[in-house]
Amino acid sequence: MGAVHRVTLIPGDGIGPEVSLAARRVVDASGAQIDWHVEEAGEAQMAREGTPLPERTIESVARDRVALKGPITTPVGSGFRSVNVALRKKFDLYANVRPVRTFPGVQSRYEGVDLVVVRENTEDLYAGIEHMIGDYAAESIKLITRRGSERIARYAFDYALRNGRHKVTAIHKANIMKCTDGLFLDTVRAVAEEYPQIEFTDEIVDAACMHVVQRPEAYDVLVLPNLYGDIMSDLCAGLVGGIGLAPSANIGADCAIFEAVHGSAPKHAGKNDANPTALILSAAMMLRHLGETEAAGRIEGAVLALLRGGVKVTYDLGGGLGTSEFADAVIVEMAG
Ligand code: NAD
Repeated sequence: MGAVHRVTLIPGDGIGPEVSLAARRVVDASGAQIDWHVEEAGEAQMAREGTPLPERTIESVARDRVALKGPITTPVGSGFRSVNVALRKKFDLYANVRPVRTFPGVQSRYEGVDLVVVRENTEDLYAGIEHMIGDYAAESIKLITRRGSERIARYAFDYALRNGRHKVTAIHKANIMKCTDGLFLDTVRAVAEEYPQIEFTDEIVDAACMHVVQRPEAYDVLVLPNLYGDIMSDLCAGLVGGIGLAPSANIGADCAIFEAVHGSAPKHAGKNDANPTALILSAAMMLRHLGETEAAGRIEGAVLALLRGGVKVTYDLGGGLGTSEFADAVIVEMAG
């Protein structure tokens, strides 16, 4: 028997509990041994205890160092601040990794897309350093550090090496923001020199957006500061048709949290019709992170086979299966 891994499972709210249960059942059937610790966060938790992110949930993630998280609703305008952002900050999860690929059997405008967006997750305009100047202006500080740029660059190149990828493209606006984006670009360039086996290019963000839409199959690993990374990762998810299929990882030096790109889809809560694929594929990324490569491959292979088959899918992909029935189908496929 292989090692038993401790993982905190945060089911979340909206469709979160349903897709989390589906992902957990698939992981348990994959051959990996997981000791799950289920901890709550989100709206219901707020109503029960007056905090959306209890201390014991934070302690569990700190202890296990790996978490699988369902989506969590963030109230718009007023109300509590994003639990998702709070967790990223708390555990300094500096790398947001989003693989984007076309799935045979799933309708999309493109074929042969297989790229990975590596977004810096902690600095840039998202550092939250902003203020009003009287009532006539507002100012936000774009903070880019050498350390932040270096660790995301290193993560992107190491990721490329580990995953058999051949090219890293840095995306920036260093022609205009010569200090901030200039520092980011110079730092990534210096790191690139340490990885001669990986091809390195850079592109200005506006041109890159056009080229990614024109020829997404030409890209491999993209590395970007926070804001461009946020925009580019949604743009790329849109290329391959379907938020229900997009997994992600938030990686730090001591901790990693895996979650779907999509949110809590409140209109679908409790209906057992949401597509659990994004969280199932996020769980497969988690298993790779834990060194459970075979179990991860088994899950990905089964999901690919089902999507290629075209019929056994959820409503968003034109099928009629429920969330739990899709998980059943993945489990049967893995066993077959
Ligand atoms: P959303 O991703 O929840 O939904 C966007 C659209 O996609 C909706 O039509 C929804 O029904 C559909 N959809 C989403 N996931 C699906 C799935 N698995 N299967 C089938 N259809 C799916 O985005 P939103 O409506 O902007 O946000 C809802 C809430 O989720 C907000 O409170 C937002 O803050 C939160 N959110 C959380 C996270 C996270 O937990 N990391 C990420 C994004 C949004």
